[in-house]
Amino acid sequence: MDFGLSAEQQQIRDMVSEFVDEEVVPVAEEIDHEDEFPADLVSEMADLGLMGMPFPEEYGGAGLDYHSYAIGLEEIARGSGGLGTIVAAHTSLAGNMLYEFGDESQKEEYLTPVAAGEDIGAFALSEAGAGSDVPAMETVAERDGDEYVINGGKLWISNGSVADTVTLFAKTDPDAGNKGISSFIVRPEEDDGFIVEGTEDKLGDKGCPTAELRFDDLRVPDSRLLGEEGDGFVHALKTLNGGRITIAARGVGIARAAFEEARDYAGEREQFGQPIGEFQSIKHKLADMDTKIQAAKMLMHKAADKKIRGENYIKDAAQAKLYASEVSREVANEGIQIHGGYGYTKDFAAQRFYRDAKLNEIYEGTSEVLRNTIGDQLLEE
Ligand SMILES: Cc1cc2nc3c(=O)[nH]c(=O)nc-3n(C[C@H](O)[C@H](O)[C@H](O)COP(=O)(O)OP(=O)(O)OC[C@H]3O[C@@H](n4cnc5c(N)ncnc54)[C@H](O)[C@@H]3O)c2cc1C
Repeated sequence: MDFGLSAEQQQIRDMVSEFVDEEVVPVAEEIDHEDEFPADLVSEMADLGLMGMPFPEEYGGAGLDYHSYAIGLEEIARGSGGLGTIVAAHTSLAGNMLYEFGDESQKEEYLTPVAAGEDIGAFALSEAGAGSDVPAMETVAERDGDEYVINGGKLWISNGSVADTVTLFAKTDPDAGNKGISSFIVRPEEDDGFIVEGTEDKLGDKGCPTAELRFDDLRVPDSRLLGEEGDGFVHALKTLNGGRITIAARGVGIARAAFEEARDYAGEREQFGQPIGEFQSIKHKLADMDTKIQAAKMLMHKAADKKIRGENYIKDAAQAKLYASEVSREVANEGIQIHGGYGYTKDFAAQRFYRDAKLNEIYEGTSEVLRNTIGDQLLEE
């Protein structure tokens, strides 16, 4: 068992970390305040290969292993939680759908520009009445000659209003439960009937547009079906599994940012004639914060390791995501506490970390649903 990073992984971490310190951290407050998709930053990231980290170079990706991808995502989220979601939804969800389930021509045509960051990807699964309960979805795709006609809507779609390629789930057989769900490649600019209804005004995760989408006789050619009819539910579960490792990375990244800010503040802020970091209660908070972060990182890498080895990593990815999500919220909460009253103001980033961290416990499987998944896996072992 090797806990160290390889030379290549260290190089990736240093490269992304430098980019984040120079380009992301200085604009993180602006992204949080303006809540605009940071197109220029995303295009710089595309030039650095950060929009297709885990995909092979032949499809426009950077060809990195999953540890390196998680490390890269962790660094990006350390700079901006919203940017972390933009990259995770684009890569782990939309990109991976195309990579894992696309045929050769779909990969060439749609994955390559997504992996290169020329196209932005989104993953449209959730609906107003179907969040945790995916099979309750009502969006339908009816076959009409060599096309599918899609009607319905999706809610909460990260990158949904800016995406060039959307991997979309719809029922091709509404009476077949989860076996009646299929997945499609949709191109909002080319396909009539793709309507962006609006974007959410959220607590955090700013900069990543979370869109409500409507499909009104949206026609897609049958060449844009991913796999076979009825494969969609399995596609979604497998994709979310891999995605959970990167949401764990987002949690670790935000927690590290919250910890570092709190540690620096504890060294500077004086009360009773000494830095507050010298009070045992504050020192212990910092100790607990870092210990939890290190443990979350281990779970993240353990899940990545199992994925790379081709082993079943359902439980590991769920544990990594569950733990790192709770840790990021707890660490960010303590970060505010260490700042005292200042932490409750927008003059400090502590509150931003808290708002960004909270989302981790909700998307890509709520903490409650992940506990169900982990429990089911434990009972099967
Ligand atoms: C900012 C943001 C971005 C998102 N991005 C995307 C995206 O890109 N693509 C996409 O498809 N979706 C996305 N989502 C949707 C997200 O995955 C769902 O919000 C999530 O799955 C929860 O579904 P829900 O909101 O309908 O909550 P519900 O499923 O209604 O859950 C409500 C509560 O009930 C609990 N609950 C539900 N079922 C169970 C159960 N079986 N056992 C125990 N407790 C249960 C939940 O844990 C939760 O506490 C995003 C959401 C947000 C907020």
